[in-house]
Amino acid sequence: SLSGKTAVITGSTSGIGLGIARALAGAGADVVLNSFTDGDDDHALAQEIAAECNVTARYIQADMSKGDECRALIERAGRCDILVNNAGIQHVAPVDEFPVGKWDAIIAINLSSAFHTTAAALPLMRKAGWGRIINIASAHGLRASPFKSAYVAAKHGVLGLTKTVGLETAKEPVTVNAICPGYVHTPLVDAQIPDTMKQYGMGRDEVIEKVILERQPSKEFVTVDELGGLALFLCSDAAAQMTASAISVDGGWTAM
Ligand code: NAD
Repeated sequence: SLSGKTAVITGSTSGIGLGIARALAGAGADVVLNSFTDGDDDHALAQEIAAECNVTARYIQADMSKGDECRALIERAGRCDILVNNAGIQHVAPVDEFPVGKWDAIIAINLSSAFHTTAAALPLMRKAGWGRIINIASAHGLRASPFKSAYVAAKHGVLGLTKTVGLETAKEPVTVNAICPGYVHTPLVDAQIPDTMKQYGMGRDEVIEKVILERQPSKEFVTVDELGGLALFLCSDAAAQMTASAISVDGGWTAM
C-alpha cells in the first residue's frame, strides 16, 4: 500500500496523468493534481478522487512552462514521495516552419519542468528516506517521426535527465525511471490528428490507421490503466533496483 505517501503528478487533469493519479490514489497514496488552469472543475476532480479512494487529494495550479512555478508546486505540496513528471504538449510542423514559441513551450513543459520539479523534490525524498521519480517520456524518446522536432528532442532529453538523476541517486533509496508509451488515445493524440491529416493529406480514419497505429505493431492503443499499473509497479519494493531505465509500453514500436 502507498498509504502515508504523497504523489505529485504534473499535468494530471486529463489523460495519462489523471490515470496515474487515480491508480496511485487507488493504492492509498495522497495525491496532488496539477495543471495550469484554476477552474472549479480542477478542484472538483481532486475531491472526486479523494471521495472515491478515501485519500487526501488536492489540486495545485502551476504552469509547468515556468521554472519557478514548477518548484513552487513541490514546495506547496510540502511532501513529495512520488513525483510523476507527466505534463506535456505536442505540435506538429516541419522544422523550417516550426513556430519558435511552440518550440520554446514544448522544451519548457515537456523537458525543463522535470528538471525543476526533480531539483525541488529530491531534498524532500531524502528527508523522507524514500522516493520514486517517474518521468513520462515516449516512444519518441527513443525514435523520431517527421514534423515533431521539438517533441522528439524534448523526449530524448527526458531520457538523458532520467539516466543522469538515476546515477546521482543510485546509492539512495530513490529510483528514477522513464516510461516510454506508444500511442495512447488521450486528448493530446486527438488534438494532433487535424495537423497530421494536413501533413499527410489524409482523412481522419486513414491517419489513425496508416500514420498512428502504423507504427504500433500491436495495432492497438496503449491504455491509461496499463500505464497506471506500471507506475504502481515502479513504486513497489519489487522495483527497488530498477533505476535510470527507460521502460517501453508501445505494442512493439521500438523493436522496429
Ligand atoms: P493530455 O493532453 O491528455 O494531458 C496533458 C496534461 O498536461 C493536461 O492535464 C494538461 O492540462 C496538462 N498541461 C498542459 N500544459 C501544461 C502546463 N503548461 N502546465 C501544467 N500542466 C499542463 O495528454 P496525455 O496524452 O495524457 O499526455 C501526458 C504525457 O504523456 C505527455 O508528457 C505526453 O507527451 C506523454 N505521452 C503521451 C502519449 C499519447 O499517445 N497520448 C504517448 C507517449 C507519451
